Amino acid sequence: MEKILDIRDLHVSFKTFGGEVQAVRGVNLELYRGETLAIVGESGCGKSVTANSIMRLIPTPPGEIKDGSILFKGQDMTQLSDREVRKIRGVDISMIFQDPMTALNPTLTVGDQLTEGLRQHRTITKKEANTQAIEMLTLVGIPNPVERMKQYPHEFSGGMRQRIVIAMALICDPELLIADEPTTALDVTIQAQILQLFQKIQKQTGVSIILITHDLGVVAKIADRIAVMYAGKVIETGTRKEIFYTPQHPYTKGLLHSVPRMDQKGEKLIPIDGTPPDLFSPPEGCPFAARCPMAMEVCTKVYPFQSELSRTHEVDCWLQDERAKKYMASTY
Ligand code: SF4
Ligand code: MG
Repeated sequence: MEKILDIRDLHVSFKTFGGEVQAVRGVNLELYRGETLAIVGESGCGKSVTANSIMRLIPTPPGEIKDGSILFKGQDMTQLSDREVRKIRGVDISMIFQDPMTALNPTLTVGDQLTEGLRQHRTITKKEANTQAIEMLTLVGIPNPVERMKQYPHEFSGGMRQRIVIAMALICDPELLIADEPTTALDVTIQAQILQLFQKIQKQTGVSIILITHDLGVVAKIADRIAVMYAGKVIETGTRKEIFYTPQHPYTKGLLHSVPRMDQKGEKLIPIDGTPPDLFSPPEGCPFAARCPMAMEVCTKVYPFQSELSRTHEVDCWLQDERAKKYMASTY
């Protein structure tokens, strides 16, 4: 399978009055063509910062990509000029955010917004653009698209607006779609419909998708692979099956316990005690150590090596590493 995106050792920081926040601390991630990768973690774990770095949407200053590379189809996004990035943004890579209203212009009809987006990047006639816009609205499940083209965003429900945003993101036929909490603002039924829509679109267009969410339940059906982030690091990656059925990192296990399950009615949700570490001065050892019920002495001193549990399953945890004991004995 072709690797469409390859993020290597990404470090992103933000300067604040209180000091420098190390929001992303050595992230490695890859995405293959046509797959859906979910990035999951609590707010502040660095998942949005990672996604925004791909699109070069980190405000500089105060933000800065300190180190690492982001290869999109072989070219390093961190090295391109602003002009080169603008050519890629919205065309080869599109992004969808939580609140559909921020992506829509309230003063333009839906039809004008769709055709404008298209005509900015393609040399086509107004009529051709119109036809494509109607096709796109049909694909995302807007009924009566011809009439709906003439309406304004406020004339649509929240779920329908998010469908329009998805149509806008897809109209230039991107190869990568990044969706940051795309269903968080929607109620549960609409949420499920939008997630199904992503699946349908992927089947029809072959687009690769990165789905960012704080809610593991959201990705249970649609992610091919899942990357769990904590305190600026990817601490476990695996196929959906590996993460849901054989999670190894105590944090991933904790996240799973806090997902309500349809088949276990009445089971109490167990939240993970404590809070993530301060990223002004992140701990040297495992960042989860202060909250981890399994923490050992080595955990507080040295960051765990990555253990490969299968070709697709990797975890950063000393519990998986036989060297943990030896390491302590020889170092201390
Ligand atoms: Fe817990 Fe140690 Fe594993 Fe970190 S490395 S998750 S503290 S057992
Ligand atoms: Mg976020």
